[in-house]
Amino acid sequence: MIHAAVIGAGACGLALARGLWRQGLPVRVFERVAAPSSNGHGFLLLANGCESLRRLGCDPADNLGHPITSVRIVCCSGDVHADYPIDGAVALMRHRLLEALLRGAPPELVQYNHQFETFEWAGQKARAVRFQNGHSHEADAFIAADGVRSSCRLAMGCASTAQPGRVKEIVAHMQHPLLAAELGHRFLKVLDPSGGLAVGLVPLGDNRLIWFVQFDSERFATPRRAEVGAFLEAHFRHFPAVVRHVLGATDPSRAHLWHTVDADASSRWSRGNVALAGDAAHPLLPFTSQGVNTALEDAVLLSRLLKDCRDPGEVPELFAAYERERQPALLHCVEAGRQMARSFVQPAPSRLPLPLMA
Ligand SMILES: Cc1cc2nc3c(=O)[nH]c(=O)nc-3n(C[C@H](O)[C@H](O)[C@H](O)COP(=O)(O)OP(=O)(O)OC[C@H]3O[C@@H](n4cnc5c(N)ncnc54)[C@H](O)[C@@H]3O)c2cc1C
Repeated sequence: MIHAAVIGAGACGLALARGLWRQGLPVRVFERVAAPSSNGHGFLLLANGCESLRRLGCDPADNLGHPITSVRIVCCSGDVHADYPIDGAVALMRHRLLEALLRGAPPELVQYNHQFETFEWAGQKARAVRFQNGHSHEADAFIAADGVRSSCRLAMGCASTAQPGRVKEIVAHMQHPLLAAELGHRFLKVLDPSGGLAVGLVPLGDNRLIWFVQFDSERFATPRRAEVGAFLEAHFRHFPAVVRHVLGATDPSRAHLWHTVDADASSRWSRGNVALAGDAAHPLLPFTSQGVNTALEDAVLLSRLLKDCRDPGEVPELFAAYERERQPALLHCVEAGRQMARSFVQPAPSRLPLPLMA
């Protein structure tokens, strides 16, 4: 039986741990923050993410998220650019997803206050993972799910190509019964056809919605925290009343300015018995809407591979197989995100970009 250690208790790390403990495999998750946090707003789980969740025994239809059945894309003049149905998607708060992944887990599963320091290597294999609090933990397999600025990735010898993303986001969620009811199950995106500005409104159920603003930081100077309200007021005057109303009704101090990261997928996804997963392996620009969905897919595949493994000596080959299976599609997603970002900042005259959401 393989003993696994997971670094990072985000969606990917917790999904992987869930896949393992439900099969009876010994696993520990090590997370740098001191306690479970409700930080973050939310995301759209698409059909592939929902399917992954079901495989982990969490049904998204089971009071977890709000079904999203259509997307409408509108110009800021009000003209409808596209309106189409989508299948099997739900919008949900990040903390609800993390709670669902933890439901039923053994209490000792996640060790908080464990910030990764390094791996202790014995040749090409890691013997243990060491943390900044002085603790270390031995395992047969290590999975690094420590997010877009992964320290584990650096410790595996993979240089980071991370650059600040040109398109940044401001995200918030709010109670708004009237508008939430009007949106129903529709995700609404409003774009400036000249490029560089967009707003998305996503109903969450329970009278709430998430909004997110995307802006080209080379055209619109990134606001400091105290300037977010003025930024929204100045740059979204020409957007429809519903957008101005939502932005104006939000306490700007509760909005999160998201400094996106533009990075290549890791040059390698594993070294011996250490594998990268989720954003640590393939940071995606938010345009793809695939960050959380592909992280859940990674977790499902890794847990399936590890479940069937009896001999720790097989782990490096399993991780190589995981990389071979996942990397081609993810390289495509990284490039698709960049292409969407390019057409967002400079749309072709005949074509509006159709990015989805944060
Ligand atoms: C606080 C937070 C809020 C977010 N909010 C949103 C949102 O509103 N909308 C959206 O679309 N996406 C959001 N994201 C990003 C989104 O969750 C990820 O892109 C996606 O789910 C992939 O998940 P992941 O598990 O690979 O990475 P992440 O979700 O980034 O999880 C990585 C985890 O690793 C931990 N970690 C990092 N470094 C270390 C270290 N050195 N040692 C130990 N632990 C470490 C982090 O604290 C985090 O818990 C958020 C991410 C975070 C961390």
